[in-house]
Amino acid sequence: MSRVAFLGLGHMGLPMAKNLIAAGHEVRGFDLMDAAVEAAKAAGVPVTEFGIDAVSGAEVVITMFPAGRHVISAYQDGLLAAAEPGTLFIESSTIAVDEARTAHELAVAAGHRNIDAPVSGGVVGAENGTLAFMVGGTDEDFAAALPLLEAMGKRIVHCGGPGLGQAAKVCNNMILAVSQIAVAEAFVLGERLGLEHQALFDVVSQASGQCWSITTNCPVPGPVPTSPANRDYQPGFAGALMAKDLGLALQAIEQTSTDARMGRLAQELYAVYAEGPGATRDFSGIITDIREDLV
Ligand code: NAD
Repeated sequence: MSRVAFLGLGHMGLPMAKNLIAAGHEVRGFDLMDAAVEAAKAAGVPVTEFGIDAVSGAEVVITMFPAGRHVISAYQDGLLAAAEPGTLFIESSTIAVDEARTAHELAVAAGHRNIDAPVSGGVVGAENGTLAFMVGGTDEDFAAALPLLEAMGKRIVHCGGPGLGQAAKVCNNMILAVSQIAVAEAFVLGERLGLEHQALFDVVSQASGQCWSITTNCPVPGPVPTSPANRDYQPGFAGALMAKDLGLALQAIEQTSTDARMGRLAQELYAVYAEGPGATRDFSGIITDIREDLV
């Protein structure tokens, strides 16, 4: 069992911290926001007054922050200095590949170890301990982190060296965005051709157009009763989070001069979608905007 500091007890971090405690780890949490601190206390997660108090004496430090700038500044503004030499830093926020590499270099320069371990599976996956972790780091650090990741997740893939967990995440979400748009366009086109939703679903879900965006996240109500379309597009995976992840994809596309026109277009469409009510609706709700010619 490990002594773990868990920083960032928001929608994802708090249930992840709870699962670590349930697996027998000793967790001290910290968050900057009073509401998150109160929720953590109510959920039985011990919290410290300052981040450095949680970190001092911990064997592992997990961060689950909104964005890369929070990670870099927290590392630089005391976390790395407060940790015992050789502490394993697990960075689980979704951040840019180059930010993950910067965080890794900062941690190593301060005498620590670091992996990037972003997740997919959303709040439900965090609560149920069924997250997927995509990990970038050395073999030794991956092996050391594995028992902790297994307490919070179900599928854990070592993707390669530092930053490559984030690389896998950004590539996956770019595919997801493009496929969700393609499925939405196909349903709208089908409607205009007189095709019933169920008929199109029955064909595509068993044919070569088959993908998660239709079989699980079907953007029209009916064919998949559990998809967000059946509950007025309550997320699920909110448009704002998809727009954020596509912003990271665009950054990676530009830095690598990759000819990713579909990814660029998906980023443009989701940026527009997330400017409106789509920010808090499931990202499959983009079908409404496509139907009404809003994106
Ligand atoms: P959130 O905003 O609910 O939680 C982030 C928490 O970090 C906040 O409570 C904030 O106060 C805290 N924080 C920020 N800076 C801090 C610091 N220096 N010290 C301590 N606490 C600090 O966000 P979330 O939904 O939990 O997402 C966290 C990360 O996981 C994001 O990077 C997001 O992109 C990623 N993610 C989220 C989902 C999802 O469905 N919510 C799914 C996959 C990945």
